Amino acid sequence: MGKSFKEIWPDIKGKIKEVSPEELKVRMTNGKETILLDVREKDEMRKEYMCGAELLPRGFLEMRVEELIPDKEKPIVVYCAVGVRSAFAAKTLMDMGYEDVASLRGGIEKWKRSGFEVLRDLDFTREQLDRYSRQIILPEVGEKGQAKIHRGKVLIVGSGRLSSAATMYLAAGGVGKLGVVDFHPVTHGDLRGQILHTFSSLGKNRAESAAKMVERINPDVSTEAYPIRLGVENTVDILKDYDVILECSGNSRTRYLVNDACVLMEKPLFIAEMARDWGKAMSVYPGEGPCYRCVFPKPELDDNASEGDGYSDALGGLMGLIQAAEIFKFLLGKGDLLKGKLLLWDGFRMRFQQKPVERDRACPLCGEHPCITDLVKNKGSYGRLG
Ligand SMILES: [Zn+2]
Repeated sequence: MGKSFKEIWPDIKGKIKEVSPEELKVRMTNGKETILLDVREKDEMRKEYMCGAELLPRGFLEMRVEELIPDKEKPIVVYCAVGVRSAFAAKTLMDMGYEDVASLRGGIEKWKRSGFEVLRDLDFTREQLDRYSRQIILPEVGEKGQAKIHRGKVLIVGSGRLSSAATMYLAAGGVGKLGVVDFHPVTHGDLRGQILHTFSSLGKNRAESAAKMVERINPDVSTEAYPIRLGVENTVDILKDYDVILECSGNSRTRYLVNDACVLMEKPLFIAEMARDWGKAMSVYPGEGPCYRCVFPKPELDDNASEGDGYSDALGGLMGLIQAAEIFKFLLGKGDLLKGKLLLWDGFRMRFQQKPVERDRACPLCGEHPCITDLVKNKGSYGRLG
């Protein structure tokens, strides 16, 4: 006579490794590369799932796992609803030669009870599916990717020529929340290159004008306008609600302030910059590469000295757009990013150039012995912020 479940279960439990939700959380927080494999059914995963999980229902495990995870040395944690199906799946994976497999004890239910986050896909309406269809059919995006974009919260510092087109594309692409910081009013001179603003916005605050334009482009996007000057006292408070920062202020002091805040707060920062006929783009991933100070210990141009210069508005738009494209890839977790690279564009000669850039061990912010540890204490070095 064959064995019953009650007889098989202790045998399976004795042969596999289990991890608790707390142990898994520590592993994930420490950035240890672990593949999370969800072996529930598709409709269960649609309701909720763990961040970064790959779906492979138990019934297809043996047939498809080698295609999904060809490297059998990679650590895998399998989970299901309560930890039974995942235990059987872990045993199967071990039998197939996977070397480092564990099952999540108590499954996603215990994970939730332990207070850890789960994600839910958005139920897109027919109208939204139409709107984003060309983006959704990209293999790198899909509905899951579109949902990641919808969950993204991006703060844009500055709403001038560098960020105008970027803000509009981030809005049209369905980024969940866009915050805009800008102290200045819209002037006639702004209307040539700052395409976020129109004649009807003249004299109004640029952040508020930008938020209104975003609402007109895409009502799915929630907006927050900050009609204020960023300073050492308010920057952390504003940045804390966002996943990603886009720095387009065109003011070097503000750029250093935002760079410092992002590194101290460990937030990814995308910088677009321009002067006259050249533009540059650089991204800061705290802990993973150089910060802005590592590459530019001092501003290349004095803001006051360059105020009288002319410039190409389209160039500013382009640099901002490049960073918007980077933000989409970052939110999706796909593609090669401008990590450890400085992108330069010589507008009049139509030359793009990528330069590798490295972390400076002597950097006062992210080096081995940092002296900038608090924005308020560093106040004196920023000067007049724009
Ligand atoms: Zn640095």
